[in-house]
Amino acid sequence: MRIAMFSTKPYDRRSFEGAPGASAHEILYFEPRLAPLTAPLANGAEAVCAFVNDDLSAPVLEVLAAGGTRLLLLRCAGFNNVDLAAAQRLGLKVARVPAYSPHAVAEFAIGLMLSLVRGIHRAYQRTRDGNFALEGLLGFDLNGKTVGVLGTGKIGAIVARILAAGFGCRVLASDVHPDPGLQAIGVTYMDPRAIAAQADILTLHCPLTPETHHVVRAETLAIAKPGLLVVNTSRGGLIDTEAAIEALKSGRLGGLAIDVYEQEADLFFEDLSNEILTDDVIARLLTFPNVLVTGHQAFFTAEALGAIAEVTLGNATRFAAGEALGHAEVTASAMVPHKA
Ligand code: NAD
Repeated sequence: MRIAMFSTKPYDRRSFEGAPGASAHEILYFEPRLAPLTAPLANGAEAVCAFVNDDLSAPVLEVLAAGGTRLLLLRCAGFNNVDLAAAQRLGLKVARVPAYSPHAVAEFAIGLMLSLVRGIHRAYQRTRDGNFALEGLLGFDLNGKTVGVLGTGKIGAIVARILAAGFGCRVLASDVHPDPGLQAIGVTYMDPRAIAAQADILTLHCPLTPETHHVVRAETLAIAKPGLLVVNTSRGGLIDTEAAIEALKSGRLGGLAIDVYEQEADLFFEDLSNEILTDDVIARLLTFPNVLVTGHQAFFTAEALGAIAEVTLGNATRFAAGEALGHAEVTASAMVPHKA
């Protein structure tokens, strides 16, 4: 099958070229993001392979379908950037990688949390400048603290286990499908508002859906414990960034670590170090000493890249053979994904 891959970086190409099943397909690697202007590049490709910031809105899908595309291969878990109703209308099947390495993202979330709590990101900068003073770096023990986990699917469940069993935190969770295994180790499920009011740290692991959009917003922050730390490795749209900035200014929000950002599509995965930053919101965020931003890096481990390539190519091979896509398939009714 001919596959047009968008937003391709050299590491994508390396992992796909080395993956089992690669020789069964002809992959065209395109660097640009998928967008209305670049969609015609896929003309004649039965499948289009897209990543988190590619535009899979109805106008783009119409161009793809008219060019002969029948399958959308998402090389990621989230599918909030796909107009699923339009895909269904146009007869386009959508497949994703439901789980490649939930450990990669969970471990990164814990890393961000520790950096924020202990000021490791600041210490790194300071010591390189010959400043070995501790003033301003006072942290707190994670042990015994209350951490809220929104979404206890594959990633959130690992985070909850590390926090409860590893650090000895009190873990409060929210999910439409509570996990009995987590309840057995003492994780307590409750309403997100009740969690916000009690948590010292909140970590976000639910998908971005109309229900979860801006789950962290001015009202949430107004009832939060003063000094709450928020970690987001899920999707940028879960946080109302402007409200977070106001809460950081007032001190209501004690720190923010984000691997994802609402307007990341124009920034992330690119080296913009020689350019003027025109996004005033991220520019303001980057001025806070208690804000840590990474560029959608949580998934980025050797294990995860290998699994993404293998599962994506497996999805392509199954589709080409006329087989069902199984739990990799995303349908219009799957706006709240079920556990795989
Ligand atoms: P998952 O589908 O296994 O888990 C998501 C959980 O959220 C499910 O248990 C679901 O029931 C729950 N949920 C759905 N709606 C909810 C709501 N309204 N309130 C509370 N819980 C709700 O997904 P996962 O593999 O754990 O991934 C979680 C998210 O992480 C993905 O949606 C994706 O956006 C993000 N992600 C980010 C990266 C990264 O590199 N930063 C990598 C992979 C995934």
